Amino acid sequence: MRYISTRGMAPSLSFGEAMMTGLARDGGLYVPQEVPVMSQSQIAGLAGKSYEETAFAVMWPFIGGFFAEAEFKDLIAKAYAHFNHSARAPLVQLAKNHFLLELFHGPTLAFKDFAMQLIGQMMQAALAKTGERITIVGATSGDTGSAAMEAFRGLSNVDVFIMYPHGRVSEVQRRQMTTPVEPNVHAVAIDGDFDDAQANVKAMFNDFDFRDGVRLAGVNSINWARVLAQVVYYFSSAVSLGAPHRPISFTVPTGNFGDIFAGYIARKMGLPIEKLVIATNQNDILDRAISLGEYRTNGVMPSISPSMDIQVSSNFERVLFDAYGRDGTAISGLMAELSGGGFSISQGAIGALREAFSSGSCTESETSATITRTYDQTGEILCPHSAVGVKVAEGELGTTPMITLATAHPAKFPDAVEAAMGTRPSLPPRLADLFDRPERVTRMPNDLKAIQALIRERIATR
Ligand SMILES: *Cc1c(COP(=O)(O)O)cnc(C)c1O
Repeated sequence: MRYISTRGMAPSLSFGEAMMTGLARDGGLYVPQEVPVMSQSQIAGLAGKSYEETAFAVMWPFIGGFFAEAEFKDLIAKAYAHFNHSARAPLVQLAKNHFLLELFHGPTLAFKDFAMQLIGQMMQAALAKTGERITIVGATSGDTGSAAMEAFRGLSNVDVFIMYPHGRVSEVQRRQMTTPVEPNVHAVAIDGDFDDAQANVKAMFNDFDFRDGVRLAGVNSINWARVLAQVVYYFSSAVSLGAPHRPISFTVPTGNFGDIFAGYIARKMGLPIEKLVIATNQNDILDRAISLGEYRTNGVMPSISPSMDIQVSSNFERVLFDAYGRDGTAISGLMAELSGGGFSISQGAIGALREAFSSGSCTESETSATITRTYDQTGEILCPHSAVGVKVAEGELGTTPMITLATAHPAKFPDAVEAAMGTRPSLPPRLADLFDRPERVTRMPNDLKAIQALIRERIATR
């Protein structure tokens, strides 16, 4: 199995190389050269399997022998051992034909744990074989950072630097990043928004001296290995509702397009997904892209679902690559136009996108109202991101069962939940002392050179 860049100018890589590399050297994202297809009987055979067994069956064809079979099974087992629910990703029913996939039972209470815990195990196993050290740099709108620090803290061959927009993450998210005591994890608060933080990460990857000097690796949602880990729960949930014998649709609260892109891969693998519904908050670039065919940035408006406050969705490039017939030159051209504000999606490409995706957006007041109403009707407490998903999904319900992804635990966003429904969701017991732990964070201007200097210095003195 080889991985190729969406911009067509970087060498193809193995699974292990793509995992360690993150962003391709031509600025593109790695995608599988060919997506392996599972037969209907193979998919049917997943019924009754554990989450870990399903994970192995779904991911193994993509690994290309980088790990031995028994080794990979062991990494999967370790990755999900600390989840708080034996099903890992349980489904609950909200209404006729509407189900919620709870992806928040991992150690940092958001779906990011599914991918991050596994990539932590995989990177550790790969580095232990060679004795190499790497530096992981990531940008986060909140949940990626805490999930990464949780997954990598204490690993001797890895330093992790996580940049988050100062003042724009929830207190629980911030504390999850600033309270780990291990010296190899570093929280950096940037004076800027998420896109500034993400732009710094991209610039570091494009600075080859720096990149090679600190052995930079990325675990942002552009990392193919993360996408792959997220493909699994599309299979486990759809099969539990009767796939492949009946089609299923999914609604996905979307920011950087990593989670829903995993659903797109599941669909390409043969899982009968009828529609993938992109749910955005008021930062609706993707909804406008699908409905109007115009991919144009117009600034970030902070919302009560901050992990989706994004103006450029990095992983969207991966579906554009397919929609434009895998023409890397065309994608390079579009991304250059995007730096200038945006582009019109071609007729052919928008047709291809609409075959797989539909979209909707949700206002702030609709988000709050959905939290209240869902609690009244079902007893389920939604986090604001999951509420955006539920609201958009409700507009798409039909005869096909709909699964909405619940991307975080409500206690991760207690202010928004309390403002909506009057009661404050409590943290699970294992996080109950989070507010008493001392914080450790470095505040930095939005200045690439200064941040690079900080990283070099910290690595040298550890
Ligand atoms: C990251 C995140 C999202 C957005 O996921 P993408 O893969 O970036 O589209 C939605 N909700 C929560 C809670 C998140 O942490």
